[in-house]
Amino acid sequence: MTIETDDYRDVWVFVEQHDGTAAPVSWELLAKGRELADETDESLVALVMGDDVSDLAEEAVARGADRALLADDAVFEPYRADPYGEQFRALVEARKPSIVLIGGTHTGRDFAGRVAVPAHAGLTADCTELAVDDEGLLLASRPTFGGDAMATIKCPAHRPQMATVRAGVFDTSEPTESDVERAAAVEEVEVVVAEEDALSTVLERVVSDVVDITDADVVVAGGAGCEGEVGPIVELAEVLGGEVAASRAAVDEGWIEPARQVGQTGKTVRPHLYIAAGISGAVQHLEGMNDSDVVVAVNTDPNAAIFEHADYGIVGDLHEVLPKLTELVREQQEVAA
Ligand SMILES: Cc1cc2nc3c(=O)[nH]c(=O)nc-3n(C[C@H](O)[C@H](O)[C@H](O)COP(=O)(O)OP(=O)(O)OC[C@H]3O[C@@H](n4cnc5c(N)ncnc54)[C@H](O)[C@@H]3O)c2cc1C
Repeated sequence: MTIETDDYRDVWVFVEQHDGTAAPVSWELLAKGRELADETDESLVALVMGDDVSDLAEEAVARGADRALLADDAVFEPYRADPYGEQFRALVEARKPSIVLIGGTHTGRDFAGRVAVPAHAGLTADCTELAVDDEGLLLASRPTFGGDAMATIKCPAHRPQMATVRAGVFDTSEPTESDVERAAAVEEVEVVVAEEDALSTVLERVVSDVVDITDADVVVAGGAGCEGEVGPIVELAEVLGGEVAASRAAVDEGWIEPARQVGQTGKTVRPHLYIAAGISGAVQHLEGMNDSDVVVAVNTDPNAAIFEHADYGIVGDLHEVLPKLTELVREQQEVAA
């Protein structure tokens, strides 16, 4: 199938929301989308879908979108893949965006294929870097070969160029002063899906209390060096008001829950402080925490790779070092109180 690529313009960002609250990755993608749109000299368009979510469309404009498309209908709440996919596909076919960015969340991954396959689009999943080349083609990069290399994928012959992107890899966009003119940039589009056409019905929604470590300011992560004893990790995280995280080795052993795994097959975190205790520094782990502001590593092996990526290194047994750090923090907190 030959596509007239010149017919396609603009960078679209899908603003994922649940119960009217935007997923943080949406604003991260909006900031990145702004950069890409400026480079290709195109418009940045936010696509908002949901029930009674016009405020999010306005917020997207305040955060840097040139305009927002709003598909507002009860059929979009709660999320289901078929109404979302069908509405999104119809808009893509009618408006022909050149680049489409979607969060690599459960929701984004769930419906992106429903848009890409019928539209004959190129879709790169789980990207961690985005850029455009001299011809304005999207360069979507993601880890490959078990994290040992990065693959950069471009789609010269198909449109739109779609990517799902990991949460936490880009800075977020901040809202600016929104004025009347900017609010006028919200266009309510025709809703092309109806409840009676939906393939599924949501009977009950159970929101799990799975922790989200991606927003934490302080993360204390334990690895195989914990040897089953994670108490020192938990106590230091508690006293610092942070979250507990883990390497895959610690998760595989069942010491720490999977939702707290950091790395290529876990979460990406960017805290102010990341403490890696008993973690060797495998490339797949580093990928999930390398953008932390300050990294402190605690390891018995002075040659552990993690030290090359740490701002501060402590050579020692975590079962001795972490309780001492916890004690020191407590003392400082008492002095400050
Ligand atoms: C496709 C693929 C995806 C992967 N995805 C991920 C991922 O998302 N996240 C991830 O973490 N890994 C991932 N891995 C696994 C990764 O390659 C490593 O095996 C893993 O990160 C190792 O975990 P670790 O550092 O805790 O364990 P180890 O490599 O065994 O290191 C343990 C460290 O603890 C130190 N130590 C031992 N005892 C103590 C002590 N008492 N006090 C202090 N230090 C001590 C040791 O010196 C050592 O450096 C992936 C691998 C593959 C192939």
